[in-house]
Amino acid sequence: MPRQLAARLSAVAPSATLAMNARVLELRAKGVDVFAFGVGEPDFDPPQHVLDAAKKAIDAGCSKYTAVTGIPALKEAICEAAARARGWNPKPENVCVSVGAKHALFNLAVALYEPGDEVVIPKPYWVTYPEQVRMMGATPVLVDTREEDGWKLSAERLERALSPRTKAVILCTPSNPTGTAYTESETRALVEVLRKHDCWLIVDEIYAELVYDGFKFVSAAKIAPDMLDRIVIVDGVAKTYAMTGWRIGWSIAPAPLTKALDMVQGQSTSNATAVAQHASVAALRGPLTDFERARAMFQKRRDAMVAGLESVPGIRCRKPEGAFYAFADVRGLFGLDWAGKTIETDEDVVFWLLDQAHVAAVPGAGFGAPGYVRFSYAASDERIAAGLEAMRVVVDRAWRADRTGRTSVRAPQ
Ligand code: PMP
Repeated sequence: MPRQLAARLSAVAPSATLAMNARVLELRAKGVDVFAFGVGEPDFDPPQHVLDAAKKAIDAGCSKYTAVTGIPALKEAICEAAARARGWNPKPENVCVSVGAKHALFNLAVALYEPGDEVVIPKPYWVTYPEQVRMMGATPVLVDTREEDGWKLSAERLERALSPRTKAVILCTPSNPTGTAYTESETRALVEVLRKHDCWLIVDEIYAELVYDGFKFVSAAKIAPDMLDRIVIVDGVAKTYAMTGWRIGWSIAPAPLTKALDMVQGQSTSNATAVAQHASVAALRGPLTDFERARAMFQKRRDAMVAGLESVPGIRCRKPEGAFYAFADVRGLFGLDWAGKTIETDEDVVFWLLDQAHVAAVPGAGFGAPGYVRFSYAASDERIAAGLEAMRVVVDRAWRADRTGRTSVRAPQ
């Protein structure tokens, strides 16, 4: 059919958060002050030296195309950061700078996945991973993890998920949406399984700097230097340096794969924006003090968000090791009444909280974890406290009106 959309799109799901976002915009248009716990971006500006570097780059005339895979200074800064913060030594020839980490993942999908391929992804997953796999006509193999295990994929479960068709395994640590980070020995156990199985290991480390309570992040690339011919690290400046809109991310991959990514990107976007690349050099080479302050602030916010969620009757929340998300079990709220309608799903909970408490969050079903809701704590202490209080008022009211005869205000776990 000449004007039909490509068949590959039929397998792809639209973003699960769209309907919720539409409702948020509707409320805001009416002047409602919505607590934005749905968004996945820091609420503050990038450090001043990053902004200065961008202005300097504009004045210096950095307005032209750059090499497809990025300016040499940025690739070098990425390698230096890998050596300094992650303890391994990639070379500029391993780096492909893209228009955000999402774009780096998309390039990898184009370069690697084909119909018939399987890509192993632990659940809950960041929504983009399985959709990119499907877009290429390949099959995501979504592997269950359990909250009791900290949402971590075990070596046994990974082993069971692998097949001769497995092209890649995608890990995200710390994870969006759960905030779970793998310890060195947990990552090592997974790497040992893959050592016996010839496939790619793609590790999304975009939140690796955002770990709390002294958690020691150790990259798979450091753990298995002998497997660097098939380990790909994905990273970016978005989360660490509050630069989501600058759109700079990258992959660090074996040189032959990076050559293929150069070709893929060279026929699509070409280079990432020149000025943003210069700003990213400043971010990576800048003083770490700004960043340490941000980390301490996020840790405090995490503690406030988790404690606050736990204090809401019917909600339980595991304390995550990293990122800026709290992934809460809301099944204890199921069965409550909202304007004559019974709350039955995480989506019901999200729409209810949005309408009644003006708290925006993201239903877990979109991440492959129905019954859970993701709350971002990339918001100020005051907003977190006020949003939690608004939720408590709404939920308390619902429990008081609850006619099901439940006696405990602490909902079933
Ligand atoms: N990976 C994960 C796990 C993320 O949460 C995000 C942003 N939500 C990205 C990648 C994309 O990052 P970028 O903005 O650099 O495309």
